[in-house]
Amino acid sequence: MPQMSNRIQLFTDSVIRRMTRISDACQAINLSQGFPDFPPPKALTDTLKQIADNGPHQYSVTYGADNVREAIAQKAGPALKRSISAADEVLVTCGSTEAMMCAMMTVCNPGDKVAIFSPFYENYMADTILCGAEPIFIPLVPPAYQFDSGLLEQAFQQGAKALILCNPSNPCGKAFTQQELEQIAALAIQYDIFVITDEVYEHIIYAPHQHIAIASLPGMWERTITCNSLSKTYSITGWRLGYLIAPATVMDGCRKVHDFLTVGAPSPLQEAAVTALHFPPSYYTDLQRLYTHKRSVFLNGLDQLHIPHNTPEATYYVLIDISAWLNLPQFSHWSDLEFCEWMTEHIGVAAVPGSSFFREPVNHLIRLHFARADATLEEALRRLAKLSALLEKE
Ligand code: GLN
Repeated sequence: MPQMSNRIQLFTDSVIRRMTRISDACQAINLSQGFPDFPPPKALTDTLKQIADNGPHQYSVTYGADNVREAIAQKAGPALKRSISAADEVLVTCGSTEAMMCAMMTVCNPGDKVAIFSPFYENYMADTILCGAEPIFIPLVPPAYQFDSGLLEQAFQQGAKALILCNPSNPCGKAFTQQELEQIAALAIQYDIFVITDEVYEHIIYAPHQHIAIASLPGMWERTITCNSLSKTYSITGWRLGYLIAPATVMDGCRKVHDFLTVGAPSPLQEAAVTALHFPPSYYTDLQRLYTHKRSVFLNGLDQLHIPHNTPEATYYVLIDISAWLNLPQFSHWSDLEFCEWMTEHIGVAAVPGSSFFREPVNHLIRLHFARADATLEEALRRLAKLSALLEKE
């Protein structure tokens, strides 16, 4: 058999998505891959039903249907603090996954360096490798997941072409503050670096924290590619609708890449999504209220079980510290992946091992999400009580 490419040897499949397959096989409660188990807004699914009869069913304009780009431009304008041109500055993609890939392929040459905060969403590493680029990691240090701006500057001094910023951050739930973003912006401008920002959790954020889009900071619009998605905001992860916003010159490159990568996002789903993009501001405050409630149900439950965890400022992820369990004789020398596989099978709750997100040698954290119906979260907590009981026995 002829040899396959070197690049596919450089990364594994996604552990997040692998855990979903393991969870399904064990019929566990899947708190690994982050997606809701509740339906999308009814207005959205009602529109989709009409579109089944009326269309469109053929390709949209490659860059996204005009009305969809217009709706995205209007929705995103306030966060980006500018009027966005639907004609020149918006691209509709197959999820933010494709948006990120388009951004990376547009700015990176093989051999370029890309700065990435660690922990990071695992796609970024694969995206970097697929572009032939090389990552430089900057740690976000727990418990507050702060970064050392000296280390960021060092990464830029090493000639980084771009910084990947996930804000709010998956998996650590950090919402970058104005001051942190200003520090990043100042360095990005000084060293002339692109910022590729993934803002898919912009609306899943907990008071008093607020989402600030880095593209809205002075001098940043010109060098920022903002990737976003409808998946989390409208509970439609399976629709695979995302978008990218960038200044026209950068957008030209992104559109070319997209044109040959996927041709376009599904047109019936784009058309339906216009309904959601026009939702009033109350939709977003209700979404925030919903997740604030779920966060407190789940985190209070973990507290009652004495399971140590971080408190996310945003996103629907929580990192649990499993050090105490790894100290038990039955788990000694286990990896976090082995622990997650065991937990899926024997506790009935699936999580993602923290090592898939950290560059540092982290083996004591696992990520769970709480985008689940309350009854499911309560059942997951009942199952996790069996985990706590293991410590009590000691
Ligand atoms: N962002 C989600 C997570 O981190 C998953 C997204 C995906 O699998 N495409 O779990």
